[in-house]
This record gives sequence, structure tokens and C-alpha cells, in this order.
Amino acid sequence: MNLKHLGGFALAASFSLGAFAADGLTASISMDKRTLGASDDVVVHVTLTNTSAVPQYVLKWHTPFGEIEESLFDVTRDGAKVAYEGLHAKRPAPTAADYYVIQPGKSYKATVELSQMYNMSISGDYTIRYSTKSAKLFSNADPSGRAFDKKQPDSLQSDALSVSIEGTLPRGAIAKAPADPVGLAGSLSFSKCTASQQSTITSAKSAAQNMSNDANGYLGANKTGQRYTKWFGSYSSSRYSTVKSHFVAIKDAFDNKPITVDCSCKKSYYAYVYPTQPYKIYVCNAFWSAPMTGTDSKGGTLVHEMSHFNVVAGTDDHVYGQSGAASLAISNPAQAIDNADSHEYFGENTPALP
Ligand SMILES: [Zn+2]
Repeated sequence: MNLKHLGGFALAASFSLGAFAADGLTASISMDKRTLGASDDVVVHVTLTNTSAVPQYVLKWHTPFGEIEESLFDVTRDGAKVAYEGLHAKRPAPTAADYYVIQPGKSYKATVELSQMYNMSISGDYTIRYSTKSAKLFSNADPSGRAFDKKQPDSLQSDALSVSIEGTLPRGAIAKAPADPVGLAGSLSFSKCTASQQSTITSAKSAAQNMSNDANGYLGANKTGQRYTKWFGSYSSSRYSTVKSHFVAIKDAFDNKPITVDCSCKKSYYAYVYPTQPYKIYVCNAFWSAPMTGTDSKGGTLVHEMSHFNVVAGTDDHVYGQSGAASLAISNPAQAIDNADSHEYFGENTPALP
């Protein structure tokens, strides 16, 4: 990945409510060439511009100004969606420190190599659009910065670029894709973990199994109480059966698949996975300080991450945090059933709901 990092780009120390209201952030995308050969990297330039008269705030992980850890692009090949194969993290709900401020009239540009995150090993006519949901912050922040996710946020999109790409192997994500997972069915193995970390992870896996057993008991009994509606929204039979199938797959993965947990991550958030690389889970700093069970726990983090694997439930991260997930269930149940934290909170069931 080829990233231009920004200097001096930080959230203002103080700000007043009402400064966020204008809708004035735009995204544009460009490429140096529109025809790429087999030896070319797939490089795009993304520019975010504040066209308004007031500062605009944007979640850091919805920008390309750092290591990319979310899907930030819509990519199609010959009209069909190309899946994001990059990293999916579990993060705490955002606070003030998680936003960049873009001052009026300012633009920031990043250069991104896309074939590490989207499968571009097949020749075809591609379209590429910068597209991130919940990208913007409006006037829902309190001055302490603790209430950023309480309101349905906006999205940010660029126009789509068309580019002809000659497919080749290896390229990007395909070059990194590992062989099928190894290990005995139902085994738990470790990478770069101390003995004490291994023991903690073993307990966390048991907690995750308890949560997935409990979730399957609930859904298998076809209950439609507050626990379901709080996290997945109003009842529909098709959404309910999707959620049920997700938890059957999550439980099956914990019970029967070879899981590897890697402890080398030093990021501040909880954990991450690559959705095309089951069943390897990378745990990070926040994981170690989380409680074993309950809200945003170690067990729940493993449920969250397990739900991301395409062979399990293929979930995405639309919002992070309990208040954001609860709002999403009301505003957009179709996204809630595709949101990893919603699965985690349903599994954790804290405080317990019927
Ligand atoms: Zn996630």
C-alpha cells in the first residue's frame, strides 16, 4: 500500500456546537492511466475537500489518510461487485480524537493502491468509486466528544472512474491469500502469544462459545423479544432467518473449525480479521483490557470477528458501539443484520433482554 500521510492534521482542541451543520464535504477520485497492464499497480488518488464555510469533521477510518482498515471504495468488474478483502477491525465507539477536522476551503489528498484490498486478478472493465457510509459528523457531538454516534450519520461518495485492467496473478490480495486453514477441527492455535495470553484466549473462546450457544437457543426457539429488536430491528421473517443462519454458522465455526489467534497487533482497537482468511483472528490492545464477558468483552470481540469471515456470516462494520448499533436497528434493519457489532451485542446480551 502506498499512502501519503498527512502532517498537522488533527481535531481542533475546542469547538462549538452548530459548527458542523453545513453539508460541505466532497470526495473526488482520479487515476494517472485508464488502461492498466499486467505489471501495473492499481493506484488511485482520493481528495477530500471542504467546500463549506465551516469546519467539517470526518471519521479517520473513513478517510484514506492512513492505513486503510475499512472498505472505502465501491468496485465493480464488468458490472459485478468486487468484494473488499482487506482488514475489518473491531473498534470502540468513536470519540473526538477519532475525527479529522478539515477547515473551510482545504483539500487533502491520498494515494492508494487498490489491488491489495479488492481482487483485481481478473481482466475486465472496472469502475471504482470512493464510497464510505457514516463518514461525516454533524452537530450531534457534545463538547466532550462522547456522543458522536447517536445520530444517523451521512455518507460520502465520489464519482465513479472507469478503468480497463489486465488481470494477472499474483496481484495484491491474491498474492497474500493463504492456503486453506490448517489444524484439527475445533482446535485453537496461537501465533506470537505468550503462555498467559494463550490461557486468556482459551477462556475468551469458551465465553464466545457460550454466547453463540445462547444466541442459537434464542433464535432456534423463534423468540422475537426485545433482545432481537434492540439489535436487529423490526421483525421480518427473511431478516430473522438471515440472523439465525449467521449464528448457526458462528457457533459451528467456534465448535468445529480450526481457529488461530494472533497476538502481534499493537493497535489501540480490539481486533481485526481479513474476511477471506478464515479462521485467523488478530487481537489488539483493547482486547486485553476488555472484560471476559458482557458489553465489548473478549468473548464478544471473538463473536464480532468470527461474523466477518465470508464463509461464516460475511458481516461488515456499518457502525461501532452500542448506541450506534441500537440506532442502526431502528433506522436500517437491513444494515443491522449485516453489522458485526450488532451480532456481538446480541450475543453478549448485556444488560440482558428477553
Ligand atoms: Zn469489525
